[in-house]
Amino acid sequence: MSWLYYRELDRLLMQLRQLYSSVEVSSELRGWNWSNDLLSPPVENVYFGVSELANRYCSTFRDIYLRRVAGVFAPITFKTVRGWLYHALSSRSASILKSTLYSHGLVRGIELIKMLEKERSSIVDSLIEEYNVNRYLSSEEVDLLRNDLHVLFDYFVVQAASRLDVVLSEVRYAKLESIINRVAPQVSEKLVDGRLLGLSKELRIDVMLDNRVIIDIKTGDVRDFHKYALAGYALAIESDLEIPIDYGLITYLSVVNGRVKISNKMYFIGDELRREFIEIRDEAFNIFSSGQDPGKPASCPEYCIYYSVCRGG
Ligand code: SF4
Repeated sequence: MSWLYYRELDRLLMQLRQLYSSVEVSSELRGWNWSNDLLSPPVENVYFGVSELANRYCSTFRDIYLRRVAGVFAPITFKTVRGWLYHALSSRSASILKSTLYSHGLVRGIELIKMLEKERSSIVDSLIEEYNVNRYLSSEEVDLLRNDLHVLFDYFVVQAASRLDVVLSEVRYAKLESIINRVAPQVSEKLVDGRLLGLSKELRIDVMLDNRVIIDIKTGDVRDFHKYALAGYALAIESDLEIPIDYGLITYLSVVNGRVKISNKMYFIGDELRREFIEIRDEAFNIFSSGQDPGKPASCPEYCIYYSVCRGG
């Protein structure tokens, strides 16, 4: 995740900290208090994914009924596969960046670019194979995705090289370990156990920074409900690791006409967001326990992953 623009991150964080300087998260809404009436899951031994709950395309929760009760899974579309691959490339490129710097030392940015670019095709092709992409997409779609992955990889590499040069230019004594930590994120794909809150055992948080900011990467359009994922992950980290998480970032990552587009939205993960997430979780448990089809809302967004199942076409 060398492409994170740390100065922008610091700026967003400073703005939010000023705005919420006098606001405290209530103790009853900290994940480590998972055994209280508010946070403890209403049903035992059932666990939901954070995205499954947070991605509230459906106001009646029919998506939960279809997946968890009727056993109907959403079709795997181009967007689904693209999401898998962008996340995988982002995480893989951070690992390769680190291993290259560990094995070659603190090279200049331009040298880093030359080294990493040699790996581009093999990394992209191996991901396409690993995720069995040819099974889900047509050959034209695979080619389109491959091109976008090349563009994305180039972007990651150039940003990493630029950041490496900037960091090296600012420090007097360059120590390999500390420079690498400033060029690549501290924890990429953090694994968290959310079971104490009725969430999955293996939640994967895209990035967790040393300053306790969590980052969730989205590869589709901006949706207001994405913020609930931050609340879910913050609660899960607090319950599993007892580390307070107050801020989170949603990073929107896309490739449009051969260019990478990135935008960020930072959130304070306060009481309101936490309560809303817990209400969503509890409603999902209700649907699961009752086993009843909640029906469709008056209208469905065409971008809902179950649209073809519920509305045909
Ligand atoms: S298509 Fe409509 S009813 Fe079906 S899950 Fe999506 S929003 Fe709900």
